[in-house]
Amino acid sequence: MRVVHSPHEVYALVDFERRNGNRVGLVPTMGALHAGHISLVQQAKLQSDIVATTIFVNPTQFGPKEDFSKYPRTLESDLEKLDSVGCDIVFVPNSEQVYAPEHSTYVEPPKVANRWEGEIRPGHYRGVTTIVLKLFMMVPAQVAFFGRKDYQQVAVIRAMVEDLNLPIQIVTCDTIREPDGLAMSSRNRYLNDSERSRALSLSRALKAANSMVEEGCHNVADIENEMTKILLNAPVDSIDYARIVDGDTLEPLSEVTSPAVAIIAARLGTTRLIDNSILC
Ligand code: AMP
Repeated sequence: MRVVHSPHEVYALVDFERRNGNRVGLVPTMGALHAGHISLVQQAKLQSDIVATTIFVNPTQFGPKEDFSKYPRTLESDLEKLDSVGCDIVFVPNSEQVYAPEHSTYVEPPKVANRWEGEIRPGHYRGVTTIVLKLFMMVPAQVAFFGRKDYQQVAVIRAMVEDLNLPIQIVTCDTIREPDGLAMSSRNRYLNDSERSRALSLSRALKAANSMVEEGCHNVADIENEMTKILLNAPVDSIDYARIVDGDTLEPLSEVTSPAVAIIAARLGTTRLIDNSILC
C-alpha cells in the first residue's frame, strides 16, 4: 500500500495505472475509519483494479461552531485497516496542499443541497462539492464510492457530476450498522452510555416507518408523527428533522410515493447524528 501526501504524486500514480489499462476506484473519507468506510473500500475492490482512499478532514465543510478541531484523527489505525483490506493507494494531503492561503474558488452546490443538512448547516455542501471536485481532479479515478448513510450528500454529488459533466461514475453503497441497528459513524465515539442507548431511537424510528409503509400506510403525516414519537420517547435531546421526502429531489412528500426516503437528524448531548432509510 502506497501512502502519498502530494497531489502531484497521487495524480501521477493514478494516471500511470490508467495508462496501463487499470480501472481506478476512489473512496473519499475524513478518516477515523470504521466498518462503514471499510465496506466502501471492499466494494471498490470488487468494482475496480486499483483502489485509492483519501483521508482528509475538510475544513470548508464544517461550520464555525462545529467539531472540526475535535474531529477524531486516527491515522495510524486507519492505515492498518486500509492495508488489511488491500487498499492500494492512500492519499493523505496536508491542508495547505489542498487549500493554499490564496484559495478562493468554490463550487456552488446544486438545488438538491438546499434543504435539510443544507439549511441547518449553512455552507456545508459548498465545502463538500468543492473538496469532492478537487479530489476528483487530484485523483483522476474512473469511479468513486460513497455511503448511502449520507443520503443527501450522495444526491448532491450525483447532481454535481451530472451538471458539470464530470467524467466519473458514482456508486452508492449500503449503510453499515452496529448489531443493534445504530448506523456506524465516526461521531458515535463522542456518545456516552446514556446517549449511545438513546441514539438507537433513530434506527428504531426508521424501522417503524418502514413497517408502516409495508402495512399499507401511505400517509406521510402519520408516519412522521410516529417517527417523532419514538425519538421523543427515547428521548433524543433535540430533533432537527424527521421527515419523509422524495428520494430524488429531497422535497417533502405528503403521500408516500416511490421513490420515498425517511430522513432523520437528531442531537444527543453535543453530538449530532443523521440516518435514513429508503421506504419504497
Ligand atoms: P466521512 O469520513 O464521514 O466523510 O465518510 C466517508 C464516506 O463513508 C462517505 O461516503 C460516507 O457516506 C461513508 N460512510 C460513513 N458512514 C457509513 C456507514 N455507516 N455505512 C456506509 N458508508 C458510510
